[in-house]
Amino acid sequence: MARYIGPVCRLCRREGMKLYLKGERCYGPKCAVSEEKKRNFPPGQHGQARKPKIAGYGLQLREKQKTKRYFGLGETQFRNLFEKAATSKGITGEVMLQMLETRLDSAVFRTGFATSRAFARQVVRHGHVLVNGKKVNIPSFQVKPGDEISVREKSRENTAILGAREATAHLPSPTWLEVDRDNLKARVTGLPKREELVQINLNEQLIVELYSK
Ligand code: SF4
Repeated sequence: MARYIGPVCRLCRREGMKLYLKGERCYGPKCAVSEEKKRNFPPGQHGQARKPKIAGYGLQLREKQKTKRYFGLGETQFRNLFEKAATSKGITGEVMLQMLETRLDSAVFRTGFATSRAFARQVVRHGHVLVNGKKVNIPSFQVKPGDEISVREKSRENTAILGAREATAHLPSPTWLEVDRDNLKARVTGLPKREELVQINLNEQLIVELYSK
């Protein structure tokens, strides 16, 4: 399935919550689902109509869509990642979230050298990022404990990356990443724990149930 390239705030409105897809704007009053804007209803002509109650399959589907959109993955990519998680050791839902979070684009986003996952993906794709000193331009590359993520020498003056570092200075770094903001590098010190895996409320068990049918 092709990647969604439409307006991303619609996706948050569809899910009725912030998915943090737009970087800085997501933390300000311009956010479509913020208290100030109050556009916390689904997009489209019937968005403000009475909401039908959803249960069972509907809930599972929404949870999957929300997760997929939050991490910016297409259906096939998401399904493939789930299959890998299902055949790995550990609790499937948790392993799946860990694998999503340790994708190179996600890790770069977490370092604060990009303001959103979409921007982080672009930074990786354009070859600005090194893993253990080697250029890696594959956003789905999985980083592991001990790896060093850095911005390559030539890109250290890149205004977009420097701007992102400044804009994300107020966000805390996750405990599984040791971030050296001054030198634009970070070390993966472990695997992310469940409680710090996502900024949004997610029930990964519903996704496991959906895909186990
Ligand atoms: Fe738009 Fe970000 Fe707010 Fe979502 S969280 S509605 S992407 S500004």
